[in-house]
Amino acid sequence: MDNNKVVVVGAGPVGLITALGLARAGVEVLVLEREPALATSPRAIVYYGGVLGGLDRLGLLDDALKAGVRTTTVQFLVRRTGERIAFDHDVLEGHVPYPYNVNLGQDRMADIALRHLLRLPGTEVRFGTAVTGIEQDADGVTVTAEADGVLMRLRAGWVVGADGAGSRVRELLGLDFEGTTWPERFVATNIRFPYDQHGYADANMVFDPEYGAVIAKIDGKGLWRCTYSEDAALPVESVHERIPAYFAATLPGDQRYELVQYSPYKMHQRAASAFRSGRVVLAGDAAHVTNPTGGLGLTSGLFDSFVLSEALAAVVRGESGAEVLDRYAEDRRRAFQEYASPLASALKQLVFGCRDETMLEGALTGLRRAAADPELQVRQLMVSQPLETPSLLTPTA
Ligand SMILES: Cc1cc2nc3c(=O)[nH]c(=O)nc-3n(C[C@H](O)[C@H](O)[C@H](O)COP(=O)(O)OP(=O)(O)OC[C@H]3O[C@@H](n4cnc5c(N)ncnc54)[C@H](O)[C@@H]3O)c2cc1C
Repeated sequence: MDNNKVVVVGAGPVGLITALGLARAGVEVLVLEREPALATSPRAIVYYGGVLGGLDRLGLLDDALKAGVRTTTVQFLVRRTGERIAFDHDVLEGHVPYPYNVNLGQDRMADIALRHLLRLPGTEVRFGTAVTGIEQDADGVTVTAEADGVLMRLRAGWVVGADGAGSRVRELLGLDFEGTTWPERFVATNIRFPYDQHGYADANMVFDPEYGAVIAKIDGKGLWRCTYSEDAALPVESVHERIPAYFAATLPGDQRYELVQYSPYKMHQRAASAFRSGRVVLAGDAAHVTNPTGGLGLTSGLFDSFVLSEALAAVVRGESGAEVLDRYAEDRRRAFQEYASPLASALKQLVFGCRDETMLEGALTGLRRAAADPELQVRQLMVSQPLETPSLLTPTA
């Protein structure tokens, strides 16, 4: 590798989509992934209308629509009273270019991005290759990585750390990961169960301090995601033994379901103390993590990716000064700290922990009003809009 090339650490959706953006702009990229293959654990599934323009520009949207499902209905359910408040993206027609969401497992999205990436010249993805060291000088970065017990040293002009919440790159840069860890654990399950035959919308938030959940359609063929929470003090190794009790207490009808996949997760609200250190830039969960209520984690990471790949490509090609990457770091950190993280925290409290009747009633009053007023509903449904920050190459007024 030489100094005009970029090493992307991590073949998660953010790393691969950033690499694709760079490669489409003519930059040579090498993606290093610690694991032997793409991760398949059940994680993000919702792509808001706000990110679909970015995916479309990268040529990914058609494949995402083929692999996933276009969704339009959202519902808020209050378990204790049976109240249901419904929104429909149809009200967004004429307001936004994509008046719908796409639901699709992030493993499928990463796979689509990988295939698009490898079709471009000057691209390489090495699986089973873990980054262990980073040294910077005035001209570039030397990355140390290990594959099959063999150490290698690679040279690049720039490095993107997209290596997830436990980012080694962030650690090697000596950056703090400031914030909090929630006392609850989330359990993400993929199950086959006909929720839609029981009045559930494409995406549902069930408000309940004991059985709160986020339930969303994954593929239109009967596969659904149900994410609920439990006390993190319970032993993690016996999560699977407790899953049947959760579904026995919450599933309607004959309760016959098939558990396809599940995974327990710790939840955090954290951001790196800086998103840039010299020639290394952080993106996605390496830069910021949030609890997944509201689906704002990968959404934030995709918005990082869209502006970063464009700006970094301009820097590599000599069309922009490197200070544009400081603006990236500031804009994206602010969008996370001021909007994504507080909103996800408020949603988590409402869905999973709301014992305060006054707070719940306040939120429900707002939702009921929006359900009856298309203009208010438009604002509520454009949930991802404040997470987006403008292109860094657009001259500021
Ligand atoms: C239950 C759940 C549901 C969620 N639902 C949503 C949702 O609907 N919408 C949403 O927007 N977000 C959601 N999220 C959040 C979303 O999953 C994350 O934001 C997303 O995975 C971030 O992608 P990433 O590419 O930054 O990191 P990751 O997906 O974590 O990828 C990082 C990659 O880096 C690799 N790596 C790590 N260390 C190294 C190393 N040293 N060298 C090389 N490679 C390395 C890892 O193996 C991994 O492949 C959810 C999360 C959870 C837990």
